Amino acid sequence: MKFNTKAIHGGQKHDSAYGAVMPPIYQTSTYAQTTPGGHKGFEYSRTHNPTRQALENAFASIENGKYGLAFGSGLAAIDAIMKLLQPGDEVISTNDLYGGSYRLFTKIFKGFGIKFHFVGMENAGNIEKHITKKTKLIWVETPTNPMMNIIDIKVAAVIAKKHDILLAVDNTFATPYLQQPLDFGVDIVMHSATKYIGGHSDLVMGALIVKDENLADRLYFIQNASGAICGPQDSFLALRGIKTLHVRMQRHCENGRAVAEYLASHPKIEKVYWPGFKNHPNHHIAKAQMKDYGGMISFITKGNDYTEAIRIVEKLKIFTLAESLGGVESLSGHPASMTHASIPKEEREKIGVVDALIRLSVGIEDVEDLINDLKQAID
Ligand SMILES: *Cc1c(COP(=O)(O)O)cnc(C)c1O
Repeated sequence: MKFNTKAIHGGQKHDSAYGAVMPPIYQTSTYAQTTPGGHKGFEYSRTHNPTRQALENAFASIENGKYGLAFGSGLAAIDAIMKLLQPGDEVISTNDLYGGSYRLFTKIFKGFGIKFHFVGMENAGNIEKHITKKTKLIWVETPTNPMMNIIDIKVAAVIAKKHDILLAVDNTFATPYLQQPLDFGVDIVMHSATKYIGGHSDLVMGALIVKDENLADRLYFIQNASGAICGPQDSFLALRGIKTLHVRMQRHCENGRAVAEYLASHPKIEKVYWPGFKNHPNHHIAKAQMKDYGGMISFITKGNDYTEAIRIVEKLKIFTLAESLGGVESLSGHPASMTHASIPKEEREKIGVVDALIRLSVGIEDVEDLINDLKQAID
């Protein structure tokens, strides 16, 4: 099956009870047993739930994996990966990453004795310089949030294999429509399904997808033992989101391109960060590993003025000022005070997250309306 067909049918069976075409919402915590252990494969909903299982199968299918796991949030999914590690282990992470991931690493897992190296991976060769005998995980986010840097997944996978280190990719921004990291030799794909996968800004969820059975077993153990699962209602919504992922992404990409080009041509705009531009430093890698360039764009105005950036996000009418991304509706954000406020200012500015940076999640409205909205706010 090709991607669009998988988005709709991948891993899905019609409901065995009544033939329901859409998986029912099994709003139950437990399952009747005829005799101790006499059940139909479901005992307790932390461990398994039929609606969640349908979703987990869909996750596995759209990422070209074998096993999918759904969690209560993207961070809960990352938390489960970190629990594969032991005190003394080291992690090499992208330096320009989602603020919440940085907070989880530095404020929680550092305290459990895990050491993190935050590394600029635009040149993937930089990863190798930080590898020691204790390195157990490489954490890649690409495109990065919010600077839209592109990291070469294939090169990262070769390095990880050579040193026998787990490689995980946060695929939230790209989605499996644009890139499928498992095909490049990545071990674990992670999603905040809150974003493009759910696609309608109506749920919070995380996902992990793997190919290796042993790794899947270890993660299922952690999922059940730590318990950060998602409920059946949210599973249903995410499954419904996946069925339109390909059509939504196509429009996000088209609108993203038009908005990026408009901003780049605007005399008051200093710089636009979007991997589809030929002059983006890693455009050639984006072109090789992604199908298109997505609808996430960051920009700064001439003069790099904080108050000007705040004025613009306040003036936007169709773009709602809000955290998050990837929904059908367009959002604007101010990373320095919102999504990335948990990263210290000096660290933030080193990677380009200056106070005047604005991030857009371009939705699937009529693009003329989006451009007119930006025009009135910037002019
Ligand atoms: C939102 C986000 C997360 C965290 O996911 P939650 O669902 O909010 O817990 C992780 N990585 C990226 C790139 C994100 O955008």
